[in-house]
Amino acid sequence: MSQMPVGGLVEHVTCLGCGCSCDDIAVAVRDGRIAEARGACALGVSWFGDGRVPAIARARESTVTLDAALDAAATILDQARRVLVFLALDVSCETQRAAVEVADTLHAVIDGVSSSTVAAAVLAAQRRGRVSATLGEIRNRADCVVFWGTDPAARYPRYSSRYAPEPAGLFVPDGRRSRRLVSVDVGDARGPADADTRIRVRADQELDAIAALRVMLAGRSLGSVPGDGGLAELVRTLTASHYVVIVYDAEPGGLPPEPARAESLTALGQQLNAVTRACVTPLRAGGNRVGAESVLTWQTGYPMTVDFSRGHPRFRPDDGARALVAAGAVDAVLVVGRALGIPFALDGLRSVAIGPAASEAPCEVAVDTGVAGIHEGGTAFRMDDVPLPLRAPVPGPPVAADVVRSLAQRIGTRRTRRS
Ligand code: SF4
Repeated sequence: MSQMPVGGLVEHVTCLGCGCSCDDIAVAVRDGRIAEARGACALGVSWFGDGRVPAIARARESTVTLDAALDAAATILDQARRVLVFLALDVSCETQRAAVEVADTLHAVIDGVSSSTVAAAVLAAQRRGRVSATLGEIRNRADCVVFWGTDPAARYPRYSSRYAPEPAGLFVPDGRRSRRLVSVDVGDARGPADADTRIRVRADQELDAIAALRVMLAGRSLGSVPGDGGLAELVRTLTASHYVVIVYDAEPGGLPPEPARAESLTALGQQLNAVTRACVTPLRAGGNRVGAESVLTWQTGYPMTVDFSRGHPRFRPDDGARALVAAGAVDAVLVVGRALGIPFALDGLRSVAIGPAASEAPCEVAVDTGVAGIHEGGTAFRMDDVPLPLRAPVPGPPVAADVVRSLAQRIGTRRTRRS
């Protein structure tokens, strides 16, 4: 059990309830429980909860010691023909790094949430590059904010007040009054209600609309322009601005976004930089999923779906976790992170889970750990790839990074003895 405060106010806590990763939360602790998460939105308050999480180690149906659970986990993974290591949510980058070590030792495939949510955008970034900026740069500079088919209020509740368009910035001293707010409504996906300009585009004409904007930016004329006629006005607004940010939701939940949206918007942003300064930024959900991409890239060179079966990392973007499990290509899975809600079923697989509430998942061996940012410190990445330190306001179960490192050590020892 970690040494944590059992009472008082813990300031500068980082919330991982969504990709905004607000790091200004003050957590009031009473009797080792979270009594209040000051400054957090409703989604954040729900993410923090009262800090209570299960804290057991389980092998099959029995509660066992941590050592016994890790021995059982090492046996399952060591004996498997082909293992998938899956980086789920709510663990730190330190834990993710330890999981990469396990995958490397086992010659396994390692993947994370991204392959089933933002794979198209990740591949587009590799092909075309990115037109990125930090959220701090956007807050300080953007005088034109375009929400493309999204209103951040529902899934990223503090985005508008912390980054844009509400706050004052160095070059936009009057905050909202210094900025032009544009909503491009794509099909039923509406932007903010208080937008200064609203443009409607049919969902099946989204890519045509982006292409039309690019044609008009290039100074050419079009026979027919998709949408309600506002695209020409939008071009005038964009080119008259000093700094444009185009914001879209890369992980909207429900129906996946148009797969070519990210690449098309990036192309638009690149072209816009010929006449003004512009960036295109995705909204990303929480749980340190962006950290998983960063750790995998740092450790292996690739952001998702990395195969160690030949003893070195290989990028296999067409064989994401969901596809591998559906094809029966793996016989054992190690989930590192919150195992409930992973994007594939564990039926017919040998399975180990290490992470928050692992014991509630239908896994053969489970070790409950703390939640990164609630019970554990470490590092997590914000949606704009900025790393942030995590604080642990309340005590909790064993630290996930320690548990995964201990598992890696056990597997390594077995393999060394055999070699
Ligand atoms: S906006 Fe996101 S990160 Fe910020 S408090 Fe709300 S849920 Fe947490």
